[in-house]
Amino acid sequence: MTLIADIETGHQELIALRRDIHANPELAFQETRTSGLVAERLTGLGLEVHCGIGKTGVVGVLRGARGAGRSIGLRADMDALPMPEHNRFAHASRNPGRMHGCGHDGHTTMLLGAAQYLAKQRDFAGTVNFIFQPAEEGGNAGARAMIKDGLFRRFPCDEIYGMHNMPGTPAGVFAFRKGAMMASSNRFDIVIRGTGGHAAMPQKAVDPIVIAAEMVGVLQTIISRSKSPIDTAVLSVTQIHAGDAYNVIPDEAVLRGTVRTFSTEVLDLIEERLRQVAQTLPQVYGASGELQFVRAYPPLVNWDEQTDFAARVAQEAFGAERVIRDVAPVGGAEDFSFYLEQVPGTYLFLGNGDGGHREATYHGMGPCELHNPNYDFNDELLPIGATYWVKLVQAFFAGNQRAVR
Ligand SMILES: [Zn+2]
Ligand SMILES: [Zn+2]
Repeated sequence: MTLIADIETGHQELIALRRDIHANPELAFQETRTSGLVAERLTGLGLEVHCGIGKTGVVGVLRGARGAGRSIGLRADMDALPMPEHNRFAHASRNPGRMHGCGHDGHTTMLLGAAQYLAKQRDFAGTVNFIFQPAEEGGNAGARAMIKDGLFRRFPCDEIYGMHNMPGTPAGVFAFRKGAMMASSNRFDIVIRGTGGHAAMPQKAVDPIVIAAEMVGVLQTIISRSKSPIDTAVLSVTQIHAGDAYNVIPDEAVLRGTVRTFSTEVLDLIEERLRQVAQTLPQVYGASGELQFVRAYPPLVNWDEQTDFAARVAQEAFGAERVIRDVAPVGGAEDFSFYLEQVPGTYLFLGNGDGGHREATYHGMGPCELHNPNYDFNDELLPIGATYWVKLVQAFFAGNQRAVR
């Protein structure tokens, strides 16, 4: 594996930056310190910097020294999670109840590292848009907020790329997948309205609890009977709320839950069937039912050509043994999907290792998994990810992606 020498030389500086961001985690749409730091760095590099896009998002525009040309978007997410941190190292979270438990501190640092190198070179014709996005976590859809705020209108991108660290995959191994890579995330509320009454006189009431109990089973038949067994989807009822007393049949029961799919077609089908069940099953018993269905993140579907291109760049830079071309899809959701609905591109994983980078003395030694209080981004990846971004940009402007058509 060959890293870009200038980036490797700056490894310690990147570690310091990453740890500074880690120590000061900020929640979705509150990333004022982080975005301020990003804007300051980009300005210092001589980029054209635009702040406040999608509330706390930042875009740094780097124009090549060889004139106008195509444009590429590179995206890093900046937000942290509302969770405690169990690590006790010097760069552990200083904001109680907030933690960079998903490695967005590392993503932001890797992209800044690439910007630093490319800003010195500018040896291309065209534009690089460095996109620092808020609010990836918790269904807040910072990507959608930036798009609504004119991201692609103001900073047109011919192609867009995003990268996420992946615990469990060996450190520095890149993983790609054409087509659906991550699930859509959706949530629903069903309100069943019956008629309350005395628990000892059910004939005078319409009991919404009995209907709710039956509905949980019927909803599972959407997964097992309504869609093709080839299509992956999951529907989970995660909340049931009804009643407060031992001897009262309540008026109402509420079911809540989540639906995950890897295609919009399957999602459309499931939402339609969910609505039919929610409305008609209660009617059988003389009650009524109502569904609210919220689509949080669409499925993340990578574009074929850009995925091939991005994988080939990784292979040429780091060797075939460090590239997985057909990684299994992941059940989590990711709002990079909003970008890929509008612009060709791909989302890739970079292995974070098995947690062996952590020191027993100061790290929490529980699982080094995403969203775990013992997690820490692997600093070894910083020059690897930054080098990859640079190689991707260089290949993009060299027109290398056309060769794989
Ligand atoms: Zn996350
Ligand atoms: Zn994440």
